[in-house]
Amino acid sequence: MGGSRRLVILGKQGAGKGTQAERLADHHGVPRISTGDMFRAAVKADTEAGRRARSYMEDGELVPDEAVLDLVGERLGADDAQDGFVLDGFPRNVRQAEALEDLLGGGGVDLVLELVVPTDVVLERLAGRRVCTNCGTNYSIQHPPKTDWTCDRCGGTVVERDDDTEGAIKRRLALYERETEPLVAWYLAKDKLAAVDGTGHPDAVTTRLLRAVDARIGTSVVRQAPGRD
Ligand code: AMP
Repeated sequence: MGGSRRLVILGKQGAGKGTQAERLADHHGVPRISTGDMFRAAVKADTEAGRRARSYMEDGELVPDEAVLDLVGERLGADDAQDGFVLDGFPRNVRQAEALEDLLGGGGVDLVLELVVPTDVVLERLAGRRVCTNCGTNYSIQHPPKTDWTCDRCGGTVVERDDDTEGAIKRRLALYERETEPLVAWYLAKDKLAAVDGTGHPDAVTTRLLRAVDARIGTSVVRQAPGRD
């Protein structure tokens, strides 16, 4: 795989996937690809894909695999994804994981990082979660943007997510256990899984993740300026 960085980040909602995927992607100079962000953008723009996905998202259910695979297939074909990516929110079940390996060819993904966070901690985090409506950057009541709920990255408005209601959160956690957790064993059997403690300060979690990537697929000197760590 040479310097390729085909990474997947797995974890319950509220485990910190969005924030950590963004940091990993920045560090490795590859895009973060979030299917949730792509669907939210499609809903906002009222596209065909958005209209199909909307009710599933509001109910905390998974959008049908075909719709997700179309979206991901197209995105992974883009120029900026050819040297690698960090997938966030995809795959969500074994069928999607199988489709991803087929789509990628050449050995499939390099490494899957499982962010391990206890359920009581994610529930507490979700209660304070906020997101930029424009670029999808995550914030929280504890870590807000610098100015008045305006995104530090793009200036977009930062709000609570529509699907962060109590009922939808419970459904999504149950869904994670049923559909997505089996992926941990699936990737483990392929020797592609690294479990990382996702509790504590976000910076400490990032350090653990970067170490896990370096330990498994080589020191990450790709596209880094000399002297940077
Ligand atoms: P997320 O931001 O990853 O929590 O995704 C928000 C919502 O988008 C989910 O609750 C699903 O309805 C939908 N979604 C995102 N990714 C997928 C996926 N890989 N498969 C099916 N539905 C998805």
